[in-house]
Amino acid sequence: MPLLNIRNLRKSYGGLEVVAGLDIAVARGECFGLLGPNGAGKTTTLRLALGLTAPDGGEIAMLGLPVPAEAREARMRIGVVPQMDNLDPDFSARENLLIYGRYFGLKDAEIAARIPALLEFAGLSHRADARIEALSGGMKRRLTLARALINDPDLIFLDEPTTGLDPQARHMMWQWLRRLLTQGKTIVLTTHFMEEAERLCDRVAIMDHGKIIATGSPHELIRNHIEPQVVEVYGEGMAGWMAAHSRAFCERVEKVGETVFCYTHDSKDLLPHLHDRSDLRYLNRPASLEDVFLKLTGRDLRD
Ligand code: ADP
Repeated sequence: MPLLNIRNLRKSYGGLEVVAGLDIAVARGECFGLLGPNGAGKTTTLRLALGLTAPDGGEIAMLGLPVPAEAREARMRIGVVPQMDNLDPDFSARENLLIYGRYFGLKDAEIAARIPALLEFAGLSHRADARIEALSGGMKRRLTLARALINDPDLIFLDEPTTGLDPQARHMMWQWLRRLLTQGKTIVLTTHFMEEAERLCDRVAIMDHGKIIATGSPHELIRNHIEPQVVEVYGEGMAGWMAAHSRAFCERVEKVGETVFCYTHDSKDLLPHLHDRSDLRYLNRPASLEDVFLKLTGRDLRD
């Protein structure tokens, strides 16, 4: 049985269908990533799954319980890390865990017994009595994650877990999330960091305009949707080179700002050719999930 099972989910706001017939099934132990540009409907989908917003149509089952009918019961058995940290600034790290645990009907003694391991997990044992405002952004994120584990949930939802973190804190968060996966937890996350999804997720769904437009493992998406090699070409000779030569070497070409993206199955003839041009610079790399994402959702800005 999938821990989260969503069938033909629909939700409109003001006549605009922001979730337009969505199917998602997340298996136990999986890390499932929901990707999409701003406004794609990711947060609405999470809110619907959690029973915080009422759907217009479709079916949702979380841990086998129907949502929204039995959403409260279901929510007692899952963990949620919201996009914005909403720790209580008037209390210490330890007190925040205690107060949160009470929401789940846990006895104080029971919560107190769980707190040391959670602080240890979050690398915050030495900051147990620090007030929230004294913690760094990365520490607050980790505490919010630890807090979401207070009821020992099998299924954890994270809405953009590393937005706003610096690269060090982001890598640290990935390590923490991987550790949860090795413990057998199931993770559903939204992100717009493709590298995050590529590193952590077993399966991702790319969402746009309320629909899933592609789904699979990061590896499958790259294999099925895009040429395996990318050569980024830039420098003063770029425009002339693109007009005269790109077609001979590239299966697909995209120009974005000052850079030409050349997509190909085989870059071995192109690289020596570029190497001989003093007016060009280039970078050869394997195609990534970000290339797939940009191909499928376009390069136009969304807000
Ligand atoms: P994402 O998380 O992918 O950025 P959202 O789910 O937040 O997308 O939003 C999808 C669309 O739904 C957006 O156009 C947004 O403006 C709209 N929307 C979200 N919540 C509401 C709401 N409570 N009322 C009206 N429109 C909303």
